Amino acid sequence: MIQNKMLFAISKKYYVLATTIVYTVSFLISTSTSILSSSFINIMLTPISQKQQVKAYKEKIFTKTHLKPSLENGIAVLGDVKIIQKRIPITETRIKLTEEYAAVHYGFKTAYMENPKVIVVHWTGGGTVQSVYNYFYPETVKNGSWHEKYGKLNVGAHFLVDRDGTIYQLFNETFITRHCIGMNYHAIGIENIGGKDGMDDLTDQQLNSNIALIKHLKEKYPTIKLVIGHYEYRKYEGTEYFLELLPDYRNVKMDPGKRFMDKIRAGIG
Ligand SMILES: [Zn+2]
Repeated sequence: MIQNKMLFAISKKYYVLATTIVYTVSFLISTSTSILSSSFINIMLTPISQKQQVKAYKEKIFTKTHLKPSLENGIAVLGDVKIIQKRIPITETRIKLTEEYAAVHYGFKTAYMENPKVIVVHWTGGGTVQSVYNYFYPETVKNGSWHEKYGKLNVGAHFLVDRDGTIYQLFNETFITRHCIGMNYHAIGIENIGGKDGMDDLTDQQLNSNIALIKHLKEKYPTIKLVIGHYEYRKYEGTEYFLELLPDYRNVKMDPGKRFMDKIRAGIG
């Protein structure tokens, strides 16, 4: 009996202790969840002010490298579509200029995207794979270019699709490139050879390759929520997808045209 009473007292003690632990742990979990979800909401809510966006990103830690592994050499095969690596070197100077660009335009110094959220589709306005590669190759923007006034970093994009549908990868997807005002900090850029004189001349092979590439990227980065044509970017001002601290740094784009984007959207589902 005494033993039973003692056992009861001990088990009661443990019961109280266990209950206290359970309550403390659940309190801690609920507090941290609400802290997490409130910062999450800060980023996800739309519309959002630029100030809020900068604050949200500044709070993130950009010290670690966000380059996710991707094939540097050789060919990746996506069904019928191949991605050929034709990399432009990510030099120390390019990293420094990219960080400077991000600091001026976005309010945080980084050369990497933590998670891509957007894909922007473009046309080059002419040229060839080699001439566009050569244009993107220098670290600094061409003298006299309109963009020069707003920063030294050269323009560029992650992928380049030739007229026969061959896809070339120029940069790692999570390295920031300068291809769309207000979105570079979280947007992957796909350029298509074509659009000479502002005319939509993009080919069916390019369409198929863009669809395959976008599907592949969306699978690789589930954070991608938006696929747009460059001509659509200004629609997103004032939302979580757009951030540009210089109020006069805006341009009007037509690429790659509504027909091509409608077909891409139908293709990616
Ligand atoms: Zn463009």
